Amino acid sequence: MKIKDITACIEQFAPLTLQESYDNAGLVVGRADDELRGGVLIAVDVTPQVLDEAERLGCGLIVTHHPLIFHPLKRLNSASMVERCVEMAIKRDIALYACHTNLDSAYEGMSWRLGRVLGVQDMQVLEPSSEMTGFGVVGTLAEPLSVEALFDLLRERLSVKVIRHSALVRESIRRVAICTGAGGSCMEAARGAGCDIYITADLRYNDFFAPDGEFIVADIGHFESEFCAIDILFDILSKKITNFALHKSACSKNPVHYSL
Ligand SMILES: [Zn+2]
Repeated sequence: MKIKDITACIEQFAPLTLQESYDNAGLVVGRADDELRGGVLIAVDVTPQVLDEAERLGCGLIVTHHPLIFHPLKRLNSASMVERCVEMAIKRDIALYACHTNLDSAYEGMSWRLGRVLGVQDMQVLEPSSEMTGFGVVGTLAEPLSVEALFDLLRERLSVKVIRHSALVRESIRRVAICTGAGGSCMEAARGAGCDIYITADLRYNDFFAPDGEFIVADIGHFESEFCAIDILFDILSKKITNFALHKSACSKNPVHYSL
């Protein structure tokens, strides 16, 4: 099996044409026509630890949510972590493939998955780019939950340690908007969708004023909101291809640490 046979499966689910103009999703390192050497490792980010894990497990391809190379590289002399990772991948003959904003926008992609984990039903795209694709989702909980119960659910199911939130202007939550990763730009879409809470990440100070008493905004952390990428990519590949080893990374860690 070739590298391109694996990536074609992913692109059937999340076509590269769905990625944002600033993105760099796709095959970042490696050759599409090469035979897949060993198995495939799935992680959130490419790091030296994940590259070591791939080598230990005998994986010739690492599939991540975030592309290792995002800003153009002008040289490759080991001066930065990105450069060292590219160097390690090439020396070890490990291909790197990223499924990023195309996985955010795909139908049943990132925000859909988070919604399902939280029991959100009747989901629709929050900020559509076409009928079924776009950023974020909005839907309803089967039963209303108190804010604290929803926060407990976030802590329990997504291993969230810290929830930064705006004023708690709702006691009970029914309508939930979600955008995984940096979702500050979907704030007005969340307002327009009439949500009780908008769950996202990477908010800035002023974003916490933005709900203006109409809903709650909650920042659960970038990594915490995107860890589900590993499960989505695992499910896509394990359903379509069964004759190779597929691993979920145990070394894909949050670069953000909390001192509580
Ligand atoms: Zn991200």
